[in-house]
Amino acid sequence: MEGEKGACNSGMHLKVSDHFPHFGEETPLVGNKGSGTIFLSHCNLKCVYCQNYRISQDGEGTTTTPGQVADMMIKLQESGCHNINLVSPTQYTPQLIEALDYAIAEGLHIPLVWNSGGYESVDTLKLLSGIVDVYLPDIKYGSNEAGQRYSNAPGYFDVCKDALFEMYSQVGDLKMKRGIAYRGMIIRHLVLPNNCAASENVLPFLASMSKNSYVNIMGQYRPYADAFKFEELKRCPTRYEISKVHKIARTLGLVRGFQKTWSSNLCH
Ligand code: SF4
Repeated sequence: MEGEKGACNSGMHLKVSDHFPHFGEETPLVGNKGSGTIFLSHCNLKCVYCQNYRISQDGEGTTTTPGQVADMMIKLQESGCHNINLVSPTQYTPQLIEALDYAIAEGLHIPLVWNSGGYESVDTLKLLSGIVDVYLPDIKYGSNEAGQRYSNAPGYFDVCKDALFEMYSQVGDLKMKRGIAYRGMIIRHLVLPNNCAASENVLPFLASMSKNSYVNIMGQYRPYADAFKFEELKRCPTRYEISKVHKIARTLGLVRGFQKTWSSNLCH
């Protein structure tokens, strides 16, 4: 409130880098009209390989008001988008709820998607109970050490497990109508080379939460930004490394959400 800044480096006022119908998200979010994405500037994580480095770390974007963000939501709804997808929203939780208030008064009715890095406090998530329709968290690492090393996030795995359980208790498994998500969770896990994400710990946790979890095991990692400072992150995961994670998931009885995304965009 006095303008002090913390780990995420964002201030009191909302900052947005872009908003548009996105056709690259998961099928249940995209449908045929796209997912109404609003990209917030800054982030509460510092992933060394972040593809949106300029937005998440350098804070690229325009300072906006809750009213202006409400207008963006309405514009995306009017363009036919199936949902409002808030990308990296955590650090602006109160301001986004204020925007939502305006948007609902203007007729917003499509589902709200909370698209975050999974490093959320349970207290904040409890405030969002009954507001968020679809949680779209990452579970980036199956160890706290990896979270500290690659995202500067102490206790990442423990924090993320508590957060996902809270999200699950609020919205449950993914529910769709005519293939479009209206409630539940879509969980993303990005496979890193050299098993740097400790994926073998991630999938058992998700299966223990629900075997009906919708899990997008993503194979499109490629070294970027500060990833080159880490020998073990200087290459893409191999087909074998990615298929191994798929196999773990299937062996655990997880079946929803695996998309063969990696065949076309491996970088070698
Ligand atoms: S959580 Fe996502 S946006 Fe934030 S730093 Fe990591 S990769 Fe970038």
